[in-house]
Amino acid sequence: MASEAPGSQVLYRKWRPQRFYEVVGQEPVTRTLRNAVASGRVAHAYLLCGPRGTGKTSLGRLIAKAVNCPSPEDGEPCNRCPSCLEYLQGQAPDLVEMDAASNRGIDEIRRLRDRVGLAPMGGRYKVYLIDEVHMLTQEAYNALLKTLEEPPPHVIFVLATTEPHRLPATIVSRCQRFDLRRIPMQAAVDRLAQVCQAEGYDIDRRGLEQIARASGGSLRDAINLLEQVVAYYGPSPTADQVMDALGLRADPRGHELVAAIARGDLPGALRVVASAHDDGVEMRQLAREAVAHLRALLLLRTGAADTLDMAQEELAELEPLARSAPEARIVQALKALAGADFRDDPYSPLPLELALVEVLGPPVRSAPSSAQAAAQDPPADPAPAEGPPPAQGQPQADDPGPLHERLVSLCRRVNLSLADLLGSARIARVDEEELVLGFPYRQLVEHMDRPMYREVLERIASEALGRPVRVRLELASPSRTGRGGHLLREALRHGAVPIAQEGGEDDVPAEEA
Ligand SMILES: [Zn+2]
Repeated sequence: MASEAPGSQVLYRKWRPQRFYEVVGQEPVTRTLRNAVASGRVAHAYLLCGPRGTGKTSLGRLIAKAVNCPSPEDGEPCNRCPSCLEYLQGQAPDLVEMDAASNRGIDEIRRLRDRVGLAPMGGRYKVYLIDEVHMLTQEAYNALLKTLEEPPPHVIFVLATTEPHRLPATIVSRCQRFDLRRIPMQAAVDRLAQVCQAEGYDIDRRGLEQIARASGGSLRDAINLLEQVVAYYGPSPTADQVMDALGLRADPRGHELVAAIARGDLPGALRVVASAHDDGVEMRQLAREAVAHLRALLLLRTGAADTLDMAQEELAELEPLARSAPEARIVQALKALAGADFRDDPYSPLPLELALVEVLGPPVRSAPSSAQAAAQDPPADPAPAEGPPPAQGQPQADDPGPLHERLVSLCRRVNLSLADLLGSARIARVDEEELVLGFPYRQLVEHMDRPMYREVLERIASEALGRPVRVRLELASPSRTGRGGHLLREALRHGAVPIAQEGGEDDVPAEEA
C-alpha cells in the first residue's frame, strides 16, 4: 500500500544504514555479520529472508562494503577509505545488483557466471546481490547452483527473498541463512524519532507510532510515509494531521464493539456492526480491529501488555475493559472473530454477526451441552408458579417435524451458527410459494429479517421442498412457544423482548412477570 504511493524516497535513501549497528531491529543478524567481518571468516553465499522493507537489500550492500573495507572497525566498515566512499556514492564497481523479479532468465545468470571468473576491480571481493531470488526460472537456478557449488574465492553471493519456501533446497543448503524479522514498532518509532531530530521535524510520539503501525513492520515504508507527511503538512504536523495523511480517520467502532462484547451485550454489538455497515466500513477491517483489541485485553489481563504494538493512550482506554470482562468470553470472542470468513465479501456483515451471536447469543441447543450447562450452572431463579415447567434440553419449537429438521440439517452444512438460530424457529405455514418461519423472540426476527439471511434460508428451503419458495419471518404465536427454560432466560438476559407480554403472561419466567 505505502510503497505504491508516489514518493521520492529521498529521505529513505539518505537514511539507509551505513553501519551494521544502524540496521534497525535485526541485532542477532548484524552481530553475526560484524563478527564474521572482524574475524575475516566471511561465507561465500548468504541468504537473507524476510518480509519486504526489513532491510535485506541494505544489509546486502553493507556486507559488500564491509568485506571490501581494508580497515574495518570492530567489523563495521570505516566509511572513510576510498572503497567505502565508492559504496557511499553508489558507484562501487565490485557490487553487482540484480533484481530476479525483472531478470528471470538463464541468460543473465550465464552472463553472471561468465563474469564470476573475473577478479574484483578494486576490492577483495566481488559481491553479487540477487534480490527476489525466488523469481528465477529452474534453468537459472541450475546455472546459479553450478556457481554456488564451486565459488571462486573472491566471490560472495547475497541472495535476498521474501519467499524462502519457494527456493530449491539445493540453493538454500549452500547459503548461510539469516531470517530478518518485521521491525518491532518501538524500534521503528525510535528510528523515526532519530530521523526527525536530525532533519528538524517535530512530530510527537503518538504521530510516529501511527506512522510505524501503518507501515506494518517495514522501515522503508515508515520513512517514506514520514517524508510524505512532512511534504504535505510541513515539518511540524499535528497527530491529527498525521492520521489524516495516513487515511486513518480514528474510527471508534472497533473499541465500541469490543466494549459491547466485554459487557456481554449482543444487541449493542449488533448495533455497532449495523451502523458501521451503514457507513460503508469494511467489515473485515472492523473484525480485525476488534480482534486486535480483544488480543490486547487478553494480554493486559495476563500482564504482558508490553508485548503489544499499541500506543499508551489506547492501552489506557482498554484497561477498564480488561479488568471487567470474563476471560473465557474474551478467548471465545477472539476465536470466533478471528475465524470469521470474509473471503466471499469483505463488506458483508454476516460473518461478523454470526460470530457475535455465537459468542453472546443463546447457548447452542444440543442435548449434551444443555445437560452439561444444567449440571454446572443450575438456574438460581425459581420456576414460574403457574406456567409449564422449564423445557431444558428440549427442542423449543413446537413442530420439529421432518421439514424443520431437514432445514436445520441443510443449514448446518452452510453455517452452524445460522443453523442454531434456525433451530429455535418453527414452521408456521408452508404453501406452494412461501415458507413462513416463526421465531420466538422479536430480537431474533429483527436480526434475521434481512436480504442476506433470507437468501440463504430461501436457498435451503427451496432445496428441502424441491421447488423455489420465498421465506418470510414472523413472530411465533405466544401460546405455542412461550415456554420458559434457560434459553428464554438467556435471551432475556441478552436484551430479547419476550413476545408473550400481552396474551400469555403466565408463560414468562417469574423474574419478568
Ligand atoms: Zn572503509
